[in-house]
Amino acid sequence: MRPLPIVWDPGYSPAFPANHRFPMAKFGHLKDWVDAHVPHTELYRPTPCPIEVVSAVHAHDYVEGFQAGTLDARAFREIGLPWSEGLAARTILALGGSLLTCQLALESGLASHLAGGTHHAHHARGSGFCIYNDLAVCARYLTGEGLASRVLIFDCDVHQGDGTAALLDEHAGSFTCSIHAEKNFPARKVESDLDVHLPDGMGDADYLAVVMETLESVLVSWRPDFVIYDAGADVHVDDALGRLSVTTEGLKSRDLQVIRRIREVGIPCATVIGGGYDPDPKRVAARHGVVIQAAAEVMARS
Ligand SMILES: [Zn+2]
Repeated sequence: MRPLPIVWDPGYSPAFPANHRFPMAKFGHLKDWVDAHVPHTELYRPTPCPIEVVSAVHAHDYVEGFQAGTLDARAFREIGLPWSEGLAARTILALGGSLLTCQLALESGLASHLAGGTHHAHHARGSGFCIYNDLAVCARYLTGEGLASRVLIFDCDVHQGDGTAALLDEHAGSFTCSIHAEKNFPARKVESDLDVHLPDGMGDADYLAVVMETLESVLVSWRPDFVIYDAGADVHVDDALGRLSVTTEGLKSRDLQVIRRIREVGIPCATVIGGGYDPDPKRVAARHGVVIQAAAEVMARS
C-alpha cells in the first residue's frame, strides 16, 4: 500500500492566546489525530517559502512589514491575529508547506498539507486570519516553473475565496472555483472564474450534489492538469463561523468523492485544510482530519 505524503511541522502552532477565535493549537492536535486515525502516511517537514516566491504574488513592502511586525495597526486588525515572531515564522513556514505539498503531489499523484487554504489574503493586505495566499502562490509557482499549465483551485471552504479570485484574476494558467455560503464573510465578494453561492443551512444531500456537479463541470470545461483542493471544514454544522448544515458523514463523503474523482481522471491533487472554527481545538482538528483520512484511503486504493 502506498503511503500518503503529508506535510506538517511542530512550528505550525506557536505560542498563542488560548481564548482567541482562531484555534492556533489545532495544527498540533490535527497531527495527533492523524497519527491515531490514519495509517499509511509519510511525513515531510517543510522549509520556509523563499521570499522571491512570495513576492511573485504579494507586495514586497507588505511581506517585509509583516515578517518584521511593522505593519500599521489597521493592517494587523484586518488580519485578526496577534503578531509575534512565532506567528511570522509559522506563516512563512506553512506557505513553504503548501509548496512542498504541491511538489509531492506531482511526484505521488496525491499529497496533503496539515495546514493551508489562506484564501482571504490579497496582494498587499491580509484579511480574515489569512496573511499570504498559499493557493495563489502555489498556482503561480507551478505554472512559472513549468510544473503545470492549468491549475484548478477547487475551494470548498464555507467562505468565499476572495483573495485568490483577485490575485489570479489575470492569470491565464489557473481557474478559481469557490463554493461557499453566500451570506458569510467576506461581505464584499470578488468574482472567481466560477462562484457557487449556497443558501444558509444547506444539508448533506444538496451540498454533495452541488459540489460534485460543479467539480465535474470544471473538469470537463477547464481541463486542469493540477488541482489544489481546499477542503475547508467550516461547512460543518457545528462550526462556529459556518452557516451550512453539513454533518461529519457529509464532510467525509465530500472529501472522498472529490479526491477520488480527481485521481480517477489522472490529475495530481494537493489538499489543504482551509478553515475550521471551534472553541475546542481538538474537535476542529478531528474535522480537519477527515480530508487526510479520505486522501489516504484514495492513495491506498490507487
Ligand atoms: Zn473559511
